[in-house]
Order: sequence, then structure tokens, then C-alpha cells
Amino acid sequence: MKKTAVFPGTFDPFTRGHENILQRALPLFDHIIIAVGVHSGKQTLFSKEKRIDMIRNLYRNVQKISVDSYDGLTIDYCEKAGAQFLLRGLRTSADFEYERAIAQINRKMNPSIETIFLLAIPEYTPLNSTIIRDILRHGGDARQFLPEGLEID
Ligand code: ADP
Repeated sequence: MKKTAVFPGTFDPFTRGHENILQRALPLFDHIIIAVGVHSGKQTLFSKEKRIDMIRNLYRNVQKISVDSYDGLTIDYCEKAGAQFLLRGLRTSADFEYERAIAQINRKMNPSIETIFLLAIPEYTPLNSTIIRDILRHGGDARQFLPEGLEID
């Protein structure tokens, strides 16, 4: 059976941390869907369309990767997309505690979907989209934190 994983996130914007998790997950799965979450009420710097476009463009030549968006529960989206795996990255113990609860609840809700965690590499542990948004909002140069080729404007 084709092994499909969903890599869900807000990706506002997609960073080198996200890129690294995805690259390391590629050999593990036949297909990875990067699923851009739409949280009503959550103000993002980049629109849903822009976030999808940026990531799609980045991976346009990678057959195994597709990009989609979803609202509602991530676990329901995984089921709908035919994925058996949900991929998340872990940076800190705070990430772990938060992700642990969600993964355990998700397992109760749908035991057929396994959450897989990959640890952030040390140099990307401090990297998060909130800080990148602050840099961009203030006109700073965030290129070293963003994937090469990501078109933010
Ligand atoms: P969410 O709003 O769902 O947390 P994010 O876009 O912030 O979405 O992150 C998506 C996933 O990528 C999460 O599992 C998050 O822990 C992981 N992630 C974010 N930044 C990094 C990083 N620097 N290194 C490894 N994983 C990361």
C-alpha cells in the first residue's frame, strides 16, 4: 500500500525548519501532502493562497510532494486525504508536551492514523514562523531562515 503522510501546519511562512523536516521525511513515505491549515480567527501575515503558492512553487519538481489546504480537524483531513501518517516536527519540550496531547487525542479519535515526530536539527531549534514574521514586518532580511527559492514577494 502506498504510504502517505500529511505534514500539517500554518506555514506562515514556510521556513528552513519545515523544509528540513520534510526533506528528512521524504525517504520514509511514498507521498507527502503539505497541508496548509486555515484557522478562522487566526490572523496570518501571508494569505492562504500565498502560502500555498509559495510552497507549491518550491516543490514543483518534487513528484512525491503535493500541497493542499484544509480547515477543520487535522485528523479528519488525514482520513479524507487517504493518509496513514501525520508528520510533525519537535523543537523543544514545550512542543513535545503540546504535541503529545494532540497526538494522543488524535489516536483516540482515529487509531488508524499514526503520528510520526522528527526532532528539529540543533541549528533550526530556535527557528519559528512567529520570529520570521516579526523580522519581515520590520523590513529585516530573513533569507537565511527561509528555504532557498522561496518567493515571499
Ligand atoms: P502549527 O501552527 O500547526 O504549529 P507550524 O507552521 O508552526 O504549524 O509548524 C508546522 C510543523 O512544523 C509543526 O510540527 C512544528 O513543530 C514544525 N516545525 C516548525 N518549525 C520547526 C523547526 N524549526 N524545526 C523543526 N520542526 C519545526
